This record gives sequence, structure tokens and C-alpha cells, in this order.
Amino acid sequence: MKDKPKKLCKLVKKDFLKDDLKEYVKLVNKPQYICDKCGRVANDKKNLCSTEEI
Ligand SMILES: [Zn+2]
Repeated sequence: MKDKPKKLCKLVKKDFLKDDLKEYVKLVNKPQYICDKCGRVANDKKNLCSTEEI
């Protein structure tokens, strides 16, 4: 399995949602953080480029 970039902000631009929707849901199903640049949310701040706690 190849390495993937972990930032959702970038993943989503690369058709990650189409290819890996289930994987994506696992990362965002209980969001604790929001990216203050692009507004995406994630369970873990390491998956976002710029984070604020929700
Ligand atoms: Zn972002």
C-alpha cells in the first residue's frame, strides 16, 4: 500500500473522496478540529493544514 498524504485539505483535491470515501469518513466521523483555512473538519488535527479545536 502506497503512502498517502495525510492532510485532508490536500487529499480532497486529489479525488480522495471518490476513491476512498470510507477511509475519509473514518477520519471525519467525530470531528474535534476544524481547519481555519479551508473549513474542513477532522477527528485528528494532524489531518488538517491549520487547526482550531471545535
Ligand atoms: Zn485546510
